[in-house]
Amino acid sequence: MSKSQQQPYHAHAHLKATLPFVSLSFSNSFSEPSSFMANLCRSTNFNLPSGFLQPSLRLSHKYTDQMREANTQAVLGLKKLHLILDLDHTLLHTVRFSYLTPEEKKKLKAEAKRNMEGGGPAGSSDIFLDSTGEGFFITKLRPFVREFLREADKMFELTVYTMGRRAYLSMKTKLLDPDGQYFGNRLIAREDCTLKGRKSLDVVLAKESNVLILDDTVVVWPDHAENLIPVEPFYYFSHGSQKRGVQPSIIHNKGEHEGGLVTALRVLKEIHERYFNSELGLKGEGDVRELVQRVQSGVRERYGDQAAPPEDAP
Ligand SMILES: [Mg+2]
Repeated sequence: MSKSQQQPYHAHAHLKATLPFVSLSFSNSFSEPSSFMANLCRSTNFNLPSGFLQPSLRLSHKYTDQMREANTQAVLGLKKLHLILDLDHTLLHTVRFSYLTPEEKKKLKAEAKRNMEGGGPAGSSDIFLDSTGEGFFITKLRPFVREFLREADKMFELTVYTMGRRAYLSMKTKLLDPDGQYFGNRLIAREDCTLKGRKSLDVVLAKESNVLILDDTVVVWPDHAENLIPVEPFYYFSHGSQKRGVQPSIIHNKGEHEGGLVTALRVLKEIHERYFNSELGLKGEGDVRELVQRVQSGVRERYGDQAAPPEDAP
């Protein structure tokens, strides 16, 4: 492993050295490579309300390409690729408490309260009630999500990307990753998006050839369909599920060892293996998009939608 692969990548030092026309002020904790763009977008020092492609910043395409290249190489050195995770209906389901049916309220209120009083996300049912300035909300984490994150973290540098607001994103990712061990500050929210109603890899500091996306909504990624692994939408509560044609799992009350994140993890593991395996795939270089469709089709064909849990699932 080269020296550059062993050392944390200090994007701020790189930027200071190469962008003298931008006056910057970074915190000492700002050292993770792919946190750079998210920080850049949200930093008040940059006066960047909606992303890094702001004329006032004058950050050139050439420069951002260099940053993407450097970050991608650093992550490749760890034998990882980049994985962008959607939040709502991919990792969890949140609704206003007032939207629950009377039956759902009765069933869930006591349980959610117990979990929150017990200190957060350790609750066995992974249901949480929280209060914001906009009222009470209830959240159910997707079954298998903790195992999914633990396994995915070994193969990918994880980023959460939502069309929700930053305050909401911050609150929800604390339920999934209270210590920031998976996401760090790689959290991209609506305020960071450069395109209205769409998501784009333009705010992700990695080469598109090395990025995978997991999202239940395909249409928000019009420019990156080749990077996308669609996942079945997760609805625990009934609100909104009919519109989407999904049966809420509070009704059928099944675990999720039948598709969803289980299948997604299988696809991700196989893509990762093929990417880095010198016998099977791209030998740690090349374009991951070449593998996405092929591996997805193969896994879904082999396991179908009624797949059994993987061997390492609890
Ligand atoms: Mg979603």
